[in-house]
Amino acid sequence: MATGIAAVVPPSSLNESFYPTTPSDYHRIVSPGLQIPSDPHVAIPVGILTCQRDPLARELDTVIVNSTFLRPEPPKGGSKKANQKQAKTSAAPTVSKPYLQITLHDTVLFPEGGGQSYDIGHLVTEDGSIWEIDFVKRHGIIAVHYAAIKDGLEGVPELLTAGKKVRVTLGEEGLKRRLDHMSMHTVAHLLASLLESKLDVPTLAWSLTSYPAPAYVDLPRALTPAEVTLIQDEANRLVFEGRRVHVEVRELDVGQAGAEGGDVPAARESRGLPSDYTGGVHRLVIIDGVDRNPCCGTHLPSLASLQLYILPPPAGGGTGPFRHLFLTGPRLLAHLNNVQTVLSRTAATMSCSVNETPDRVTLAVDENKRREKRIEDIERELAQTIGASLIEEMLRWRTEGGEGEWTRYIGRVDDEAGAHGFLQAITFAFKDLLPKDAPPYTLLLTSSPSSPTQTSTTVVMIFGSDDIRVKKVGEALKAQFKTLKGGGKGARWSGKATGVWLNERDGKMAALTLVQA
Ligand SMILES: [Zn+2]
Repeated sequence: MATGIAAVVPPSSLNESFYPTTPSDYHRIVSPGLQIPSDPHVAIPVGILTCQRDPLARELDTVIVNSTFLRPEPPKGGSKKANQKQAKTSAAPTVSKPYLQITLHDTVLFPEGGGQSYDIGHLVTEDGSIWEIDFVKRHGIIAVHYAAIKDGLEGVPELLTAGKKVRVTLGEEGLKRRLDHMSMHTVAHLLASLLESKLDVPTLAWSLTSYPAPAYVDLPRALTPAEVTLIQDEANRLVFEGRRVHVEVRELDVGQAGAEGGDVPAARESRGLPSDYTGGVHRLVIIDGVDRNPCCGTHLPSLASLQLYILPPPAGGGTGPFRHLFLTGPRLLAHLNNVQTVLSRTAATMSCSVNETPDRVTLAVDENKRREKRIEDIERELAQTIGASLIEEMLRWRTEGGEGEWTRYIGRVDDEAGAHGFLQAITFAFKDLLPKDAPPYTLLLTSSPSSPTQTSTTVVMIFGSDDIRVKKVGEALKAQFKTLKGGGKGARWSGKATGVWLNERDGKMAALTLVQA
């Protein structure tokens, strides 16, 4: 605490005396001309920042090189140009609220790059006040910290101007986030390397994604379960050995910007160095005896604790690329926890043990299919019976002296949402059984739930021998019931009404309309 700046990392669950430190030979400068700038008024370029030289460092006392007040730009109406600008990794972001853009001499906060997301953390000024760093971006070779504005601030406060001492720290949340990123990133290198050396399968694309989702590699072909086991076993053998990881940096040759390091398979870090990364360093991340890969990310100094889990391969078929998901470190534990929670909930619903769950779910699904089939059969039979009884009623009506058009209203109560199909089945059955000399007729069928509410739906169907009559009844019902919407073609009209439908009240009114329309 040489600067007298108060520590902001609370004595958390981490036991300080056991917190590991980065070995002194982790970061190796291999070209004699390259030096880390020591002048505190100069920003150290991205590539040799403390977060990259000492990935286990959690805080650092440093000096502000530059700070500006960034106002949000007025929206440009979502023009294509603005979107493209935003998409470029190192472009100044379009912000929705004001920020302080702060460049430090050095930092423990990693700016976005190499497929690894930015760090979050804090700045502590000399008076002990804490400023949240929401994100860090690489602008060319400079890491820029975006500090959230407090209390309607309108400019750069005195203690955050150039030359002032600050402490930059990951904080508890920032450290958790970084440990996850480092674990996933280092294991991604290991995985890609083993796929190439053991199976001769190049990695076409990869993403570390965001916690807690699994990261992925896209491959030209799907791996077999045996290959997945092979790669996973091989990776975990190296993890058990605790293979060391270190970094080698050298000066970036003139004209090398945007080019690929020659000693590395092109497919691996296909992006090479960003075209706007000029004046920086060339950096290789090396897993001892396993992999050498150009990368600007932060990597753990050892594979120990980075157990690799590759999710079971996707079902075969289709053409590539084939996506394989993988996990390690904190994200693997989060995944395990999530899977266990899902399984336990399902087991509780099925009233069985976790191990019995797949069989019980299969049984329930099969039973459900059988029930659905049975309901279909019974519905068909019932529709047939109702259709036959309607015909019988109509013929009796005529025998007893009925003349002109026969009308009939049926108000069904049914809690099945898809009642439309059933009402239609009744009309089909009725039509099939219709004798040649049948009188003209119009049927009105409704189906409403047993406990109707303001949001309930009542299905309405009209079926008749005269298309014009059918249409007329439909229009009259629409005029009568304001929420009824519907229409039809020919002999059939169907619609839906929203709200409470009671056959005793609304059904009776509709039946009257059927006769009078
Ligand atoms: Zn990398």
